[in-house]
Amino acid sequence: MIDLHAHSMFSDGTDAPEAMALAADAIGLKALALTDHDTLGGLPRFMAAQAGVATLLVPGIELSCRFMGRPLHMLGLFLDFTDPSLAGRVEGMRARRLERNHAMVAKLRARGVPISWEDVAGEAPTDLVSRTHFARALVRKGAAGSPQDAFHRLIGDDGPCHVPFPELAPREAARWIREAGGVALVAHPGRGFPRGFRWDQAMLELKSAGVQGFEAYYPDYGPVEHRYFLDLARDLDLLPTGGSDYHGGHKPGVALGVAGGGFEVPDGVLDRLLALRDPKAQ
Ligand code: AMP
Ligand code: MN
Ligand code: MN
Ligand code: MN
Repeated sequence: MIDLHAHSMFSDGTDAPEAMALAADAIGLKALALTDHDTLGGLPRFMAAQAGVATLLVPGIELSCRFMGRPLHMLGLFLDFTDPSLAGRVEGMRARRLERNHAMVAKLRARGVPISWEDVAGEAPTDLVSRTHFARALVRKGAAGSPQDAFHRLIGDDGPCHVPFPELAPREAARWIREAGGVALVAHPGRGFPRGFRWDQAMLELKSAGVQGFEAYYPDYGPVEHRYFLDLARDLDLLPTGGSDYHGGHKPGVALGVAGGGFEVPDGVLDRLLALRDPKAQ
């Protein structure tokens, strides 16, 4: 069993990176990737845990992009997270995120929701603040009944107080990842896009932009969607990957290593990934 998509407290999960490495080892995972949103912050601690565990720890990231006016997440796996050029680029993401976050506070306040930047930042254990932390602050301030309610009424992708990130094109994100020796993969296609979106056409375009695969194993895919993305990967000669998208206590019911509904990520995906990464950069 392998899990190529998981978040720690360095983005919007709750667990310490080394605790995740130990948990993966305890359940016998063959590999676990840490893929925090727009930060490399958890990777030194995560990778330092390698000496004490049999699980192969994979350094990764999940970059927030926009594609055809919608949010698209790009996973980078097997990154050289010590690459200074990658670090500089990710630092730029921090600035984009901060700007976006302040704009969201302003939108909420303009709507009469009494929330401050300090309320939101206070929910995050590191300086990476995401909508997960907004949701918790909104619940704490009594502006939402639950995090789900906050997403549903206010800050979901199409909510009145959501501010999308300044544009990062998939082509650029894939270049950042590949120049750092990593493999560029579209996370959870189908999520965040309208029903009927032509993923066959989109993936062809994304492939020409440098994408090497995408997730076909994901907890909330049903069997039909799962099959569709597996077939699409085969037809386009792209690598089907996947994982749990674990967020610890911030996504109850999602466990490490469980990609959903009986379709676990086959171990063979690991060898195919290793073959795709750029050996020059390792
Ligand atoms: P951000 O990167 O700041 O835009 O925050 C996005 C994160 O919020 C995602 O990675 C999810 O963890 C979480 N999220 C987005 N939409 C929802 C939703 N409808 N319900 C629960 N969590 C969500
Ligand atoms: Mn998240
Ligand atoms: Mn995502
Ligand atoms: Mn994720």
